[in-house]
Amino acid sequence: MFENKESRTELSSMGEFGLIERISKSVELKNPESVKGIGDDAAILENKNKMTVVSTDLLAEGIHFDLTFHPLKHLGYKAAVVNFSDIYAMNAVPKQILVGLALSNRFSMEAIDELYSGLLLACEHYHVDLVGGDTTASAAGLIISITAIGTADAHQLVYRNGAKEHDLVCVTGDLGGAYVGLQVLEREKKIFVENPNIQPDLGGNDYILERQLKPDARKEVIEKLNELKVKPTSMIDISDGLSSEILHICKESDVGAEIYEDKIPIDPQTYERAREFNLDPTVCALSGGEDYELLFTIRQGDYEKIRAHMDISIIGHITDKNSGVNLIDKSGNSIKMRAQGWDALLSRE
Ligand code: ADP
Ligand code: MG
Repeated sequence: MFENKESRTELSSMGEFGLIERISKSVELKNPESVKGIGDDAAILENKNKMTVVSTDLLAEGIHFDLTFHPLKHLGYKAAVVNFSDIYAMNAVPKQILVGLALSNRFSMEAIDELYSGLLLACEHYHVDLVGGDTTASAAGLIISITAIGTADAHQLVYRNGAKEHDLVCVTGDLGGAYVGLQVLEREKKIFVENPNIQPDLGGNDYILERQLKPDARKEVIEKLNELKVKPTSMIDISDGLSSEILHICKESDVGAEIYEDKIPIDPQTYERAREFNLDPTVCALSGGEDYELLFTIRQGDYEKIRAHMDISIIGHITDKNSGVNLIDKSGNSIKMRAQGWDALLSRE
């Protein structure tokens, strides 16, 4: 849909080493922990007395992204950010990434420049160093594998398994936007494929399109919680949807939860567009995914400290295990949470 056809340099004309050299020239190390970056057999990091937190994510074209509507620069940004989000979800700070790429000959040097401009923009925003990677050919399509490395003091780390009965369940930002944004993109793609002369109509959807194409991780929330001296009892980032993530926390922590539908934060644009697609906005928030917000639990005593923080909503509380994990809907009915499906909610209208 948005491909740039201006100039094209074949990767075969520059070779793997030429490409790596080009990438390496655009990278400057910022963190003192990054001792050696691209250019040797391995990167070298120095973390002194901190814990090292490592996470990896694999993104495959056609499975995790669609290049007909995902600009490569945004894709690079998103690929980095989703990894930073995993590091923040441990209450740690991302410091480095390594980038593995498998590329078919469909991709030109200019396309890889675009991808790296997004990756490096994310590194800039989150103060992370790109310290290495690997490059190989692929028979078809693009595969991006990113490994993120972060640090934290041992006592700061937050796991999924620390939630206790009576803790408050909190979520940052708002939910469902990325999923509804994807519905808009897929609708426009379908129209475009059927009639390439019709230009995509993406107006009025800026917020949800950005949520899908260029999400951000909740760096500032982690910093704020540290500043307020609030350590969550458990935490996870929302990549698969609220219901799946709360189920993970409850399973790992051996507890139940009550989540109130009317407390789930949903942006008005998400709400309106969901309605246009005949989707229940709550279901989008529960099952949509890719919001990269943080879901965490805090002790009740910490409530006063975070109350004034605008970007956090309290959506429920932790119960004992035997009560299960339930959604209290707007009419006060208790619905057992499931990772997907939502028959009870889907059939209520
Ligand atoms: P090796 O043969 O040991 O795998 P490479 O020639 O693949 O070494 O890599 C040389 C250097 O370039 C290493 O520092 C590696 O981390 C870096 N590198 C390779 N591919 C990429 C990439 N796609 N992005 C960033 N750095 C890369
Ligand atoms: Mg290699």
